Amino acid sequence: MPNSELTDRFGRTVNYVRLSVTDRCDFRCVYCMAEEMTFLPREKILSLEEIARVARNFVTLGTQKIRLTGGEPLVRRGIVDLVREIGSMGLRDFAMTTNGSQLPALADDLRKGGLHRLNISLDSLDPAKFHAITRTGKLSQVLDGIEAARDAGFRNIKLNTVVMKGRNDEEIPELIEFARTRQLDITFIEEMPLGQISEHDRGLALCTSEEVRSIIRRHHELELTGDDSGGPSRYYRMPDSAIRVGFISPHSHNFCATCNRVRVTVEGRLLLCLGNEHSVDLLRVLREHPESDETLRQTIIAAMDLKPERHHFSSEGDVEILRFMNMTGG
Ligand code: SAM
Repeated sequence: MPNSELTDRFGRTVNYVRLSVTDRCDFRCVYCMAEEMTFLPREKILSLEEIARVARNFVTLGTQKIRLTGGEPLVRRGIVDLVREIGSMGLRDFAMTTNGSQLPALADDLRKGGLHRLNISLDSLDPAKFHAITRTGKLSQVLDGIEAARDAGFRNIKLNTVVMKGRNDEEIPELIEFARTRQLDITFIEEMPLGQISEHDRGLALCTSEEVRSIIRRHHELELTGDDSGGPSRYYRMPDSAIRVGFISPHSHNFCATCNRVRVTVEGRLLLCLGNEHSVDLLRVLREHPESDETLRQTIIAAMDLKPERHHFSSEGDVEILRFMNMTGG
């Protein structure tokens, strides 16, 4: 595996790519999407072959870690074939973020296809609240999905919970017990101002990681670990459990200095930062140069110069980024 050829102006090495495989989703989570969404027409999105081509070229440039996301990656037809293709590229880490709803049917094939890890979103253990947050989701389907992933042999399953005041903050102790019982890591995420939503006031709903930790500390000791995924999560442990409790705190903890990642949207836009609008159009390059990958690789290398030093999110919930998370590839 070559060292990454992708370095930005601030000396950060980029060796992690998050590929969004669809903007569509079977859920409409209140913090992620508007209730009525218009999704992209087929001709505007990368084909599975084009996504694999992007992945292969990033790997050639030294990428060691790829995560498939969306939208909901498991609603994209042919996703298992794409997983097989990328699973054979020799990655050190190959992961997916999913809402879990399709895992009962697909977990086995994903594991056999070479996927290493799963992050599964789970915001509530109460069926009615779960339905209210996801607008369309059925909790039992996701819980079955988590079991299916465990049965399929996935070892590193992590739960992701976006915490909102008055919505699911009182469920934090229950979610911790759920994770402890099943030996699953869990990460609590502060809501980010991505896309204009009217369903709730992001500023009022913001539950900071510090607040989440103080709720957990009523029940368990929490110790900060030095574990570093190279990403935004800070990890804590409880003395009587092997699981890790992560916190993604874009409002209170700036994690840009060690940022090692870029994203490619399903429209083929290479995004250099979650919290900035800079992007480069890879779809055009892919389609103008179907035979040779040289221009694609040069475009990716040159794009690193656009990676901004940091993002700025305000805690008032003001929208600074017009893209919804389903477009960004969360
Ligand atoms: N459909 C998959 C899922 O549900 O995990 C993958 C895509 S989703 C956009 C990826 C992650 O982004 C989820 O954990 C979701 O909770 C999180 N997310 C979406 N919008 C967010 C926001 N505005 N702030 C913080 N996290 C958000």
